[in-house]
Amino acid sequence: MPEGDSVWQTARRLDVLSGQVLTESDFRVPSLATVDLAGRTVLETVSRGKHLLTRLTDGMTIHSHLRMEGRWDVQQPSASWRRPEHEARVVLRTGATVAIGYSVRVDLVATVAEDSLVGHLGPDLLGPDWDAEEALRRLERVGHVPVGEALLDQRNLAGIGNIFRAEACFLAGVDPFDPVALVPDVPRLVRLCHQLLEAHRDRSSRITTGDRRPGRRLWVYQRRGPCLRCGTPIRSGELGPEGSERSVWWCPSCQPARRIAD
Ligand SMILES: [Zn+2]
Repeated sequence: MPEGDSVWQTARRLDVLSGQVLTESDFRVPSLATVDLAGRTVLETVSRGKHLLTRLTDGMTIHSHLRMEGRWDVQQPSASWRRPEHEARVVLRTGATVAIGYSVRVDLVATVAEDSLVGHLGPDLLGPDWDAEEALRRLERVGHVPVGEALLDQRNLAGIGNIFRAEACFLAGVDPFDPVALVPDVPRLVRLCHQLLEAHRDRSSRITTGDRRPGRRLWVYQRRGPCLRCGTPIRSGELGPEGSERSVWWCPSCQPARRIAD
């Protein structure tokens, strides 16, 4: 699943369309197959957590979500497509540009009704209105939930994906399976999440260690072998609500468990 930083970068890419008139829209999902947005002007694209909102004149918003494998390309009409055409779910054309949404989930909503899609989201780590206090209040309410699970739950704070949840827990010295209530300094953990997203907002590669060498860029995510800091073998496991577990990695020495072993 993409992290908030790549969704933010995608919004910036799509923002190239702002001010341009759509000459053609081609939705390749059954529910929108007959929709034609030609003639509408694109106003802007913003990200909210992992959601993308492309606002048009006449009060319409194209809502898209990258899910696991989705991506938006924005390119010149003559440029060749980077993915197979059958993966395209939506194609937007203007005089100068074509935007192709591959494997995205896409739907249309009235701009005034955007809240029905994103209103449940916690504070957006990359939003202009990032609110750490509100994120803390929401995390407090889920004190019994494993912290690695709570960080991925976009209702608490929006923007953290599987890479940054593992890295933030490492940097905070927190075992991702420990319940939120046992994390000694939740404000620091939230600060680290915010710093990670901010630092990667304009970057294409993810580096949390400060070391650019291949295999040393991330502390624990997808790491096999010894911890870069202490040499203890990195462990991995599955964490998340039943049915949506995701892999997580941690160092048992740098991130000692505080819960009573079960
Ligand atoms: Zn370690």
